[in-house]
Amino acid sequence: MSFVTRFAPSPTGHLHLGHAFSAIAAHDAAQAAGGRFLLRIEDIDLTRCKPEYEADIFEDLAWLGLEWETPVRRQSGHFDDYAAAIDALAARGLVYRCFKTRKEIAEEIARAPHHPGEGPEGVIYSGPAEPMSADEEAARLDAGEPFAWRLSLTAAREALGEDWDRLGFIEEGEGPEGETGRVKARPELLGDTILARKDVGTSYHVACCHDDALQGVTHVIRGRDLFFATHLHVLLQALMGWPQPVWRHHRLLTGPDGKRFAKRDRALTLKALREAGETPESVRRLCGA
Ligand code: GLU
Repeated sequence: MSFVTRFAPSPTGHLHLGHAFSAIAAHDAAQAAGGRFLLRIEDIDLTRCKPEYEADIFEDLAWLGLEWETPVRRQSGHFDDYAAAIDALAARGLVYRCFKTRKEIAEEIARAPHHPGEGPEGVIYSGPAEPMSADEEAARLDAGEPFAWRLSLTAAREALGEDWDRLGFIEEGEGPEGETGRVKARPELLGDTILARKDVGTSYHVACCHDDALQGVTHVIRGRDLFFATHLHVLLQALMGWPQPVWRHHRLLTGPDGKRFAKRDRALTLKALREAGETPESVRRLCGA
């Protein structure tokens, strides 16, 4: 069986120890399986991603002794691909335009008597009570109002029919609540997710699933913080006919205070550790890889 995995950082800050753990986990798993290790730059957020962070990613990973295939896919060069995926969903009525502001959505949710509240990824928006009329939509588009494309879970459920209840995935690692093995997909935990906005023409979800399919990724190895996104990713894969990989979500590294490492922990960036005299071996030890 082929084994293709990837490390897919977003160049919005310096890589830290937690990233090193993810990259090493994916790289070593590919080596152990005689498979392939890809690096993918997820730089769709053009305002937050910076070329200097991207340059650091290459430097840090090379310093760690990791080797990846070239050319490296950079998502910012492929917005057309992601737009085509959204168009395909729109043509099948699986996404709808949402013109509501965050505030309007919060107010609508507060008024809804049986609203599910917050999910693991934040507020669950279950869609408008009534779909917008074609006239109103056309008028708002004409007026140049900004909108987001949201995935309609109602339409997705209809489109998949009986397959909806069979949606699930194989977790070879472990989710935050000990989920492992065959996991039932629960896209309702995320609600009608935004798949694209006017300013960023795709969401992480679409770009990531599109590229995993395009690049033939068979094993997604990443931090447990992305476990819940998987409930949506398997749905997108089913709707788009993209092959489903298996997932290995790994533990998140925590500091002495018990909180997980984040980009703000400057002292633990690979750059800082490198400059402080750590070696690739000691970094492996530090993150327990
Ligand atoms: N680009 C995402 C991040 O940096 C990771 C995507 C993934 O591994 O699925 O958090």
